[in-house]
Amino acid sequence: MITIDLHTHTNYCDGENTPREMVEEAIKRGFKIYGFSGHSYDPCVEPYSMTPESTEVYKAEVLALKEEFKDKIDIFLGLEQDYYSEPYGDGYDYIIGSVHNVKKDGKLYPVDLTPEMLQEVLDEHYGGDFESFAEEYFDLVSDVVNKTNCDIIGHLDVISKFFEREPRFLTDRYKNAALNAVRKLVPFDKFFEINVGAMTRSYRTAPYPAEFILKEINRLGGKIVINGDCHEKERLGDFLEDAAALAKECGFSERWILTKNGWKAEKI
Ligand SMILES: [Zn+2]
Ligand SMILES: [Zn+2]
Repeated sequence: MITIDLHTHTNYCDGENTPREMVEEAIKRGFKIYGFSGHSYDPCVEPYSMTPESTEVYKAEVLALKEEFKDKIDIFLGLEQDYYSEPYGDGYDYIIGSVHNVKKDGKLYPVDLTPEMLQEVLDEHYGGDFESFAEEYFDLVSDVVNKTNCDIIGHLDVISKFFEREPRFLTDRYKNAALNAVRKLVPFDKFFEINVGAMTRSYRTAPYPAEFILKEINRLGGKIVINGDCHEKERLGDFLEDAAALAKECGFSERWILTKNGWKAEKI
Protein backbone atom coordinates (compact mmCIF):
# COMPACT_ATOMS: atom_id res chain seq x y z
CA MET A 1 0.00 0.00 0.00
CA ILE A 2 1.26 3.50 -0.81
CA THR A 3 1.01 5.78 2.20
CA ILE A 4 2.82 8.85 0.94
CA ASP A 5 1.40 11.85 -0.83
CA LEU A 6 3.30 15.00 -1.73
CA HIS A 7 0.51 16.61 -3.74
CA THR A 8 -2.34 17.66 -1.46
CA HIS A 9 -4.57 20.69 -1.05
CA THR A 10 -6.37 22.28 1.87
CA ASN A 11 -8.99 24.94 2.40
CA TYR A 12 -6.24 27.54 1.98
CA CYS A 13 -6.89 26.94 -1.72
CA ASP A 14 -9.45 24.62 -3.33
CA GLY A 15 -9.27 21.73 -0.86
CA GLU A 16 -12.09 20.79 1.52
CA ASN A 17 -10.22 20.41 4.80
CA THR A 18 -7.89 22.25 7.13
CA PRO A 19 -4.21 21.27 7.19
CA ARG A 20 -4.74 19.76 10.64
CA GLU A 21 -7.64 17.60 9.44
CA MET A 22 -5.50 16.36 6.55
CA VAL A 23 -2.58 15.47 8.81
CA GLU A 24 -4.78 13.69 11.36
CA GLU A 25 -6.41 11.68 8.59
CA ALA A 26 -3.01 10.86 7.06
CA ILE A 27 -1.80 9.52 10.42
CA LYS A 28 -5.03 7.53 10.81
CA ARG A 29 -4.41 5.96 7.41
CA GLY A 30 -0.83 5.00 8.27
CA PHE A 31 0.99 7.67 6.29
CA LYS A 32 4.58 8.28 7.37
CA ILE A 33 5.30 11.05 4.86
CA TYR A 34 2.93 13.83 3.94
CA GLY A 35 3.44 16.93 1.82
CA PHE A 36 1.27 20.02 1.49
CA SER A 37 1.26 21.67 -1.93
CA GLY A 38 -1.14 24.61 -1.84
CA HIS A 39 -1.83 26.43 -5.12
CA SER A 40 0.37 29.45 -5.74
CA TYR A 41 -1.47 32.74 -6.18
CA ASP A 42 -3.27 32.77 -9.49
CA PRO A 43 -5.25 36.01 -9.87
CA CYS A 44 -7.59 34.72 -12.59
CA VAL A 45 -9.04 31.97 -10.40
CA GLU A 46 -8.54 33.40 -6.96
CA PRO A 47 -10.80 31.18 -4.85
CA TYR A 48 -8.95 28.19 -6.20
CA SER A 49 -5.50 29.49 -5.34
CA MET A 50 -3.99 30.94 -2.17
CA THR A 51 -3.59 34.71 -1.93
CA PRO A 52 -0.20 36.29 -1.17
CA GLU A 53 -1.42 36.91 2.40
CA SER A 54 -2.91 33.47 3.01
CA THR A 55 0.24 31.85 1.59
CA GLU A 56 2.20 33.22 4.54
CA VAL A 57 -0.38 31.92 7.03
CA TYR A 58 -0.36 28.54 5.24
CA LYS A 59 3.42 28.31 5.54
CA ALA A 60 3.35 29.11 9.24
CA GLU A 61 0.56 26.62 9.92
CA VAL A 62 2.25 23.78 8.03
CA LEU A 63 5.54 24.43 9.83
CA ALA A 64 3.73 24.38 13.19
CA LEU A 65 2.07 21.04 12.31
CA LYS A 66 5.41 19.67 11.17
CA GLU A 67 6.80 20.35 14.63
CA GLU A 68 3.71 19.21 16.52
CA PHE A 69 3.47 15.85 14.74
CA LYS A 70 7.16 15.18 14.16
CA ASP A 71 7.10 11.93 16.15
CA LYS A 72 4.22 10.54 14.11
CA ILE A 73 4.73 11.69 10.54
CA ASP A 74 7.24 13.58 8.40
CA ILE A 75 5.47 16.65 7.09
CA PHE A 76 6.88 18.67 4.20
CA LEU A 77 6.02 22.19 3.12
CA GLY A 78 5.48 22.34 -0.61
CA LEU A 79 3.85 24.58 -3.16
CA GLU A 80 2.11 23.87 -6.44
CA GLN A 81 3.57 26.71 -8.44
CA ASP A 82 1.61 27.66 -11.54
CA TYR A 83 3.58 28.49 -14.68
CA TYR A 84 2.19 32.04 -14.65
CA SER A 85 2.40 32.78 -10.93
CA GLU A 86 4.86 35.32 -9.58
CA PRO A 87 8.10 33.81 -8.23
CA TYR A 88 7.65 32.25 -4.80
CA GLY A 89 9.47 33.05 -1.56
CA ASP A 90 11.87 30.97 0.53
CA GLY A 91 11.27 28.12 2.89
CA TYR A 92 9.66 25.39 0.79
CA ASP A 93 10.85 21.79 0.99
CA TYR A 94 9.83 21.16 -2.61
CA ILE A 95 7.96 22.70 -5.52
CA ILE A 96 5.50 21.13 -7.95
CA GLY A 97 5.51 23.02 -11.25
CA SER A 98 2.17 22.91 -13.08
CA VAL A 99 0.64 24.61 -16.09
CA HIS A 100 -3.02 25.38 -15.28
CA ASN A 101 -3.56 28.23 -17.73
CA VAL A 102 -2.74 29.47 -21.17
CA LYS A 103 -2.28 33.18 -21.77
CA LYS A 104 -3.87 34.85 -24.78
CA ASP A 105 -3.76 38.61 -25.40
CA GLY A 106 -2.63 39.10 -21.83
CA LYS A 107 -5.54 37.14 -20.37
CA LEU A 108 -5.18 33.85 -18.50
CA TYR A 109 -7.54 31.02 -19.38
CA PRO A 110 -7.73 28.04 -16.99
CA VAL A 111 -7.51 24.71 -18.83
CA ASP A 112 -8.45 22.27 -16.06
CA LEU A 113 -11.22 23.94 -14.07
CA THR A 114 -14.30 23.13 -16.14
CA PRO A 115 -14.91 21.71 -19.64
CA GLU A 116 -16.80 24.93 -20.48
CA MET A 117 -13.83 27.15 -19.62
CA LEU A 118 -11.52 25.00 -21.72
CA GLN A 119 -13.98 25.14 -24.61
CA GLU A 120 -14.12 28.93 -24.30
CA VAL A 121 -10.40 29.34 -24.96
CA LEU A 122 -10.51 26.75 -27.75
CA ASP A 123 -13.29 28.66 -29.51
CA GLU A 124 -11.97 32.15 -28.85
CA HIS A 125 -8.33 31.62 -29.72
CA TYR A 126 -7.82 28.40 -31.63
CA GLY A 127 -10.90 28.30 -33.87
CA GLY A 128 -11.93 25.16 -31.98
CA ASP A 129 -8.72 23.38 -33.07
CA PHE A 130 -7.73 21.25 -30.11
CA GLU A 131 -4.42 20.15 -31.62
CA SER A 132 -3.12 23.72 -32.07
CA PHE A 133 -4.09 24.39 -28.49
CA ALA A 134 -2.36 21.20 -27.32
CA GLU A 135 0.84 22.16 -29.16
CA GLU A 136 0.93 25.50 -27.39
CA TYR A 137 0.06 23.92 -24.07
CA PHE A 138 2.86 21.36 -24.27
CA ASP A 139 5.31 24.10 -25.30
CA LEU A 140 4.57 25.77 -21.97
CA VAL A 141 4.91 22.44 -20.16
CA SER A 142 8.30 21.86 -21.75
CA ASP A 143 9.42 25.15 -20.17
CA VAL A 144 7.94 24.53 -16.70
CA VAL A 145 11.21 23.59 -14.98
CA ASN A 146 12.92 26.71 -16.33
CA LYS A 147 10.02 28.88 -15.31
CA THR A 148 9.25 27.48 -11.84
CA ASN A 149 12.49 25.76 -10.83
CA CYS A 150 10.30 22.88 -9.66
CA ASP A 151 11.31 19.49 -8.29
CA ILE A 152 8.19 17.74 -9.58
CA ILE A 153 6.55 18.26 -12.97
CA GLY A 154 2.82 18.25 -12.14
CA HIS A 155 0.10 16.44 -14.15
CA LEU A 156 1.87 16.82 -17.51
CA ASP A 157 -1.18 16.18 -19.72
CA VAL A 158 -3.89 17.71 -17.52
CA ILE A 159 -5.63 18.97 -20.68
CA SER A 160 -6.92 15.42 -21.12
CA LYS A 161 -8.82 15.74 -17.82
CA PHE A 162 -12.35 16.11 -19.16
CA PHE A 163 -12.12 14.08 -22.35
CA GLU A 164 -10.38 10.86 -21.46
CA ARG A 165 -12.04 8.73 -24.11
CA GLU A 166 -12.00 11.14 -27.00
CA PRO A 167 -9.95 10.34 -30.11
CA ARG A 168 -8.38 13.80 -30.09
CA PHE A 169 -5.78 12.39 -27.66
CA LEU A 170 -4.68 9.73 -30.09
CA THR A 171 -3.74 11.89 -33.06
CA ASP A 172 -0.11 12.07 -34.14
CA ARG A 173 -0.01 15.83 -33.67
CA TYR A 174 -1.22 15.57 -30.09
CA LYS A 175 1.15 12.73 -29.26
CA ASN A 176 4.15 14.43 -30.82
CA ALA A 177 3.47 17.62 -28.90
CA ALA A 178 3.33 15.71 -25.60
CA LEU A 179 6.41 13.61 -26.40
CA ASN A 180 8.42 16.66 -27.44
CA ALA A 181 7.73 18.15 -24.03
CA VAL A 182 8.93 14.95 -22.36
CA ARG A 183 12.13 14.93 -24.43
CA LYS A 184 12.86 18.53 -23.47
CA LEU A 185 12.13 17.90 -19.78
CA VAL A 186 14.02 14.65 -19.12
CA PRO A 187 17.50 16.30 -19.21
CA PHE A 188 16.52 18.53 -16.27
CA ASP A 189 16.55 15.38 -14.12
CA LYS A 190 13.41 16.33 -12.19
CA PHE A 191 10.52 14.04 -11.23
CA PHE A 192 7.55 13.45 -13.49
CA GLU A 193 4.37 13.08 -11.51
CA ILE A 194 1.87 10.28 -11.93
CA ASN A 195 -1.25 11.96 -10.62
CA VAL A 196 -4.60 10.35 -9.73
CA GLY A 197 -6.45 13.57 -8.87
CA ALA A 198 -8.88 13.28 -11.78
CA MET A 199 -9.72 9.70 -10.74
CA THR A 200 -10.66 10.68 -7.20
CA ARG A 201 -12.88 13.37 -8.64
CA SER A 202 -14.39 10.93 -11.17
CA TYR A 203 -13.26 12.72 -14.32
CA ARG A 204 -10.97 9.91 -15.39
CA THR A 205 -10.55 6.17 -14.93
CA ALA A 206 -6.75 6.23 -15.32
CA PRO A 207 -4.03 8.47 -13.89
CA TYR A 208 -2.17 11.14 -15.83
CA PRO A 209 0.07 11.08 -17.77
CA ALA A 210 -1.21 8.76 -20.51
CA GLU A 211 0.58 5.47 -21.04
CA PHE A 212 2.39 6.54 -24.21
CA ILE A 213 3.87 9.47 -22.31
CA LEU A 214 4.96 7.37 -19.34
CA LYS A 215 6.58 4.82 -21.65
CA GLU A 216 8.64 7.55 -23.26
CA ILE A 217 9.67 8.97 -19.88
CA ASN A 218 10.80 5.49 -18.90
CA ARG A 219 12.60 4.87 -22.20
CA LEU A 220 14.59 8.07 -21.73
CA GLY A 221 15.49 7.26 -18.13
CA GLY A 222 13.16 9.82 -16.49
CA LYS A 223 12.16 9.50 -12.84
CA ILE A 224 8.66 9.45 -11.38
CA VAL A 225 6.77 10.27 -8.22
CA ILE A 226 3.25 9.01 -7.47
CA ASN A 227 0.88 11.67 -6.14
CA GLY A 228 -2.77 11.92 -5.17
CA ASP A 229 -3.52 15.62 -5.80
CA CYS A 230 -5.87 15.04 -2.89
CA HIS A 231 -8.48 17.72 -2.17
CA GLU A 232 -10.48 16.00 0.61
CA LYS A 233 -9.40 13.87 3.51
CA GLU A 234 -11.80 11.02 2.71
CA ARG A 235 -9.90 10.39 -0.53
CA LEU A 236 -6.38 10.30 0.91
CA GLY A 237 -4.42 7.44 -0.58
CA ASP A 238 -7.15 6.47 -3.07
CA PHE A 239 -5.95 5.07 -6.40
CA LEU A 240 -2.25 5.43 -5.59
CA GLU A 241 -1.90 1.68 -6.09
CA ASP A 242 -3.45 2.02 -9.55
CA ALA A 243 -0.79 4.58 -10.37
CA ALA A 244 1.92 2.19 -9.18
CA ALA A 245 0.46 -0.60 -11.32
CA LEU A 246 0.43 1.69 -14.35
CA ALA A 247 4.02 2.73 -13.66
CA LYS A 248 5.08 -0.92 -13.60
CA GLU A 249 3.25 -1.65 -16.83
CA CYS A 250 5.13 1.24 -18.41
CA GLY A 251 8.47 -0.21 -17.34
CA PHE A 252 9.27 1.62 -14.11
CA SER A 253 10.68 -0.38 -11.20
CA GLU A 254 11.04 2.51 -8.78
CA ARG A 255 9.38 5.73 -7.73
CA TRP A 256 10.92 8.60 -5.79
CA ILE A 257 9.89 9.84 -2.38
CA LEU A 258 10.93 12.78 -0.24
CA THR A 259 12.42 11.94 3.16
CA LYS A 260 14.06 13.94 5.94
CA ASN A 261 17.34 13.03 4.28
CA GLY A 262 16.30 14.13 0.83
CA TRP A 263 14.91 12.34 -2.23
CA LYS A 264 15.12 8.56 -2.28
CA ALA A 265 14.16 5.84 -4.75
CA GLU A 266 11.76 3.12 -3.61
CA LYS A 267 10.81 -0.11 -5.32
CA ILE A 268 7.31 -0.37 -6.74
ZN1 LIG B 1 -2.62 21.25 -10.45
ZN1 LIG C 1 -2.94 20.13 -7.29
